[in-house]
Amino acid sequence: MIAWFRKMSERAQRQNVERTIELLVRAAKEVDLELLHGRTPSEDGRRCLISMQRALLVDVVGPVPIDVLRKDYLEPILASDRFGEGEKLAVRHVFESAEKSGRRTGLEIVSWEEFKRRVLMGWSPRMGMSIYQALSFDCACGERHLFGQAAPLKELPGMRLVLSCPRLAANGTCVKVKGLFRIRLESEFGSVGD
Ligand SMILES: [Zn+2]
Repeated sequence: MIAWFRKMSERAQRQNVERTIELLVRAAKEVDLELLHGRTPSEDGRRCLISMQRALLVDVVGPVPIDVLRKDYLEPILASDRFGEGEKLAVRHVFESAEKSGRRTGLEIVSWEEFKRRVLMGWSPRMGMSIYQALSFDCACGERHLFGQAAPLKELPGMRLVLSCPRLAANGTCVKVKGLFRIRLESEFGSVGD
């Protein structure tokens, strides 16, 4: 994977996360202030808070793993007394949703070393792949791509294929072909770093 490209996407993601957290905290503070004074928060205020939470949920998906983002952004907020409980809760909720959905997809992000080790016994793809072209898969970069846009790099035992990332934002993702009549691609593991 191209190192400068990965660095650039990581930096862009971090900038987005930082900016959105700042806006989210501000929105949560306003809603909290209303509640503190025994007032019902305005519809606008609540809508703003929810839309900032949605934005952050999108921003945390990218080349920087969620556990790294948690350590760099969420934990300092939780540990600081500059932020109120409502603000902390608003940010924490987003991270917990992202972590839960990450576990649901079953895609494990591993180091480049571990990735190479796991695909070592693979061979040049030789299975018929024309029927997979229109299927999509969860890439290690955090996005979904069409099979037809990714290059099959290796074939592994058990109907598994290692696919490249069309955005070059990940080293590769190992997908397993599942289903007989309704075929789908289930991502197992992938790597984004060096
Ligand atoms: Zn990708």
